[in-house]
Amino acid sequence: MNADEDMFTNEDTVANMVKLRFLDEPSILKNLERRYEEEEIYTLVGSVLVSLNPFQKLPLYGDKILDRYSQASPSSEPEQPPHIWGLAERAYRSLLCNWSDQSVIVSGESGAGKTEATRRVLEYFMEMSRRRGGEDDFAAGLEGKIMSAQTILEAFGNAKTIRNDNSSRFGKWIEVGFSRAGQIQGAVIHTYLLEKSRVVSLEPGERNYHIFYELLQCAEEDEQLQGELGLGQVASYRLLNEGSTFTRDDGVVDSDEFLHVREALAAFGFSEEDMSRIWKGLAAVLCLGNLQFEEDQVQTSTSVQDGSKITNSDTLLQAAGLLSVSTEDLQAALLFRTMVDARSEVGPPAPLASLGALAAFRRVRWLPPGCSPLGAGGAPRLCCGQGSWEVIWQESGRSFASAAAVPCAPAGLILIGCSEEFSEWRTTALIAYKLHEAKDARDALCKAVYSNLFNLLVARINERLSSAGCLGETNRTIGMLDIFGFEMLQTNSFEQLCINFCNERLHVHFNEECFRIEMEEYAAEGIAMETIEYNDNSECVAMLERRGTGVFALVDDEIRTPGGSDANLLEKMFGEHAKGAYLKRASGREGANCFRIQHFAGQVLYKVDGLMDKSRDALHADLAALLSRSENMLVRASPQFGKAEGAVAPDCRGEAELELRGAEGPERRPSKRAPQPQTLGTQFCTQLRALIQRLNATQPHFVKCLKPNMEKKGGFFVAEEILTQLRYTGIVGLCKIRQVGYPARIPQDEFRQQFQCLCPYRKGTSPGQKGRTVDDLLAALQHTEDLSPGRWLRGSTKVFMKHDQLDSLMAAVLAVR
Ligand code: ADP
Ligand code: MG
Repeated sequence: MNADEDMFTNEDTVANMVKLRFLDEPSILKNLERRYEEEEIYTLVGSVLVSLNPFQKLPLYGDKILDRYSQASPSSEPEQPPHIWGLAERAYRSLLCNWSDQSVIVSGESGAGKTEATRRVLEYFMEMSRRRGGEDDFAAGLEGKIMSAQTILEAFGNAKTIRNDNSSRFGKWIEVGFSRAGQIQGAVIHTYLLEKSRVVSLEPGERNYHIFYELLQCAEEDEQLQGELGLGQVASYRLLNEGSTFTRDDGVVDSDEFLHVREALAAFGFSEEDMSRIWKGLAAVLCLGNLQFEEDQVQTSTSVQDGSKITNSDTLLQAAGLLSVSTEDLQAALLFRTMVDARSEVGPPAPLASLGALAAFRRVRWLPPGCSPLGAGGAPRLCCGQGSWEVIWQESGRSFASAAAVPCAPAGLILIGCSEEFSEWRTTALIAYKLHEAKDARDALCKAVYSNLFNLLVARINERLSSAGCLGETNRTIGMLDIFGFEMLQTNSFEQLCINFCNERLHVHFNEECFRIEMEEYAAEGIAMETIEYNDNSECVAMLERRGTGVFALVDDEIRTPGGSDANLLEKMFGEHAKGAYLKRASGREGANCFRIQHFAGQVLYKVDGLMDKSRDALHADLAALLSRSENMLVRASPQFGKAEGAVAPDCRGEAELELRGAEGPERRPSKRAPQPQTLGTQFCTQLRALIQRLNATQPHFVKCLKPNMEKKGGFFVAEEILTQLRYTGIVGLCKIRQVGYPARIPQDEFRQQFQCLCPYRKGTSPGQKGRTVDDLLAALQHTEDLSPGRWLRGSTKVFMKHDQLDSLMAAVLAVR
């Protein structure tokens, strides 16, 4: 189709929507719908690619098609139908021609096709790398590894949801390094906000992470595996049967996938033994999930407490075995927490008396269990061994352990610390968990084991994918962002706040870039444009992320406030922001515990309940300490323990527990309070800031994925659904930016062809003005008042016009025909 037709008929579709006469919502919708009917799923808006999920296999990705995009010259590019590989080629070409970092930013709601698009882009780069590298083993190995990494991440980070059978439950940014010759040199993957809550609770129709089902299905047929893990039927696990859905509908067979995961893990250097540890960790999570509790009266030395007990001791035994911790330890950590008694007693209480030798040391420093990470100042710590307590301390850089373990009945009152002068003793008490607390402890443990495993896999993948300097000075990178879209659920909580904040921030970036591209086009044409006004959402972002008073900072602040509460947090938020335009009290009907945020994509109602707990994400010190003593190094070694509240950092090096390093010498007094761990909210804000900084240093290429229907049905276009997403993804906003200024841009030759016909018929046109050049033509059209002052501009290669100007010119053409 040529541009001529684009402008004169309404019947045909346009491949680039900036050519639409009216770039309004109805025209955009109509165009997309018609194209979808013709199985044209890709459409451009300027340089932004819109991709509609076809929900069926279309013949769009063969070798011939790839060749067409890889061999297209920049000048022939506009004639190629829009395609994800066209966008990939542009990024790749820009990388090589400009020798600068690029990014491909894919957004859209769940199930819209983001991960698929990212995969296609990566596929394209790998093919280009292969073509340039000939038989290079190194590069070939890397490509295989990148695919393997995807397999692992998908198994552990994807799940079936009602919106997508293979939904990624984490955000990711993959950065691939290229050499001058265009060959892939390595890659790094950053993941964001794995949905931990899925591990312990499922909505109807949804599954837990794929890997659980894959493991179980395979274990059914593999006697050895079954023997090691002792797994039961899928339906027998609470963590898997809550959603009442066990199979995938997308044709992927779980047991086949398991074999792929094994191969992929092997490609990353995981031995059979390592894998066995991973399966044990997973089986442990399932087992823990099945633990049942009952209310119980617990007798302690000082009182009788309302606590709980575990009713299925077989499962406890099995879970402890799989976790490689002692059953007593696991039980104690699930039923009790140790609390430091703030009221100090003078003189050593009874249990310590059995440690006679201890009193001989003059410089003993004590801390509550896990108060300070190992290595930071050589703080001594209390260690929970086989159902008893062992005391560890350090003196003059040497470590000591108590000669005998301190017997510790679950409800005992035991000493854990004193000052250097022995004048002040502090005691801990074991506090029994109430029934719901014990269940929470169990779930927290499941989530911690699983997410630690996930983080560990990502860390290993990165270790092996990135060769030294692959993203360094001598290379350039293309980053691909596949991240959750805007969410507006019935009840929205911390997860949605993070996701929507992220989208809000990325939207600022998108706006800035579209605006910049727009201004650059004018500049390239030698036109001085005054600043274009556009809908700016940066104030909302500032309200969320501002240090000190932003919403995330207020959450942190309330977490640190002794006695902080959800209600206080809500009042703090209103006090700080209710006068502004972006945060409002919810109406009484919606609940007193709610607030609304006006996001660029719409208003979202958030519940304040649990916001702080989720951001705190504390794995209680006792649970963290339990895991840090697991014999299973994959359960023990965790990048995350350090973040748990007051947790002991894990001893990942496998060295003796007694090797306490006294970096700051024995003289330093321990601080009264452990350093505050970062909240999830803060971590996420920091990650996001780093991501944006990275994006700002790249030339971006945007893909906006849209989901034409919620039934995942092929060839079915629901206009209202698309319209909502057009707004969420910023396409409508983009069109608005495009509409201000001079949106109609016609290459000079084309302009002459189309409008020359106006000259010979116009009165007062002299023969010399018949439009041999564009300037002649423009002068003639001004003379005849077909062109109005201020409605058009002449660029160096194009004529820029307001829509009404173009319309009146076209009406004039129709009139003379
Ligand atoms: P998202 O990552 O946005 O949640 P996915 O990329 O996982 O969505 O896509 C969801 C499903 O939609 C895929 O599993 C696939 O079945 C289908 N799909 C997405 N993009 C395409 C495409 N270009 N061609 C065919 N099917 C697709
Ligand atoms: Mg996805």
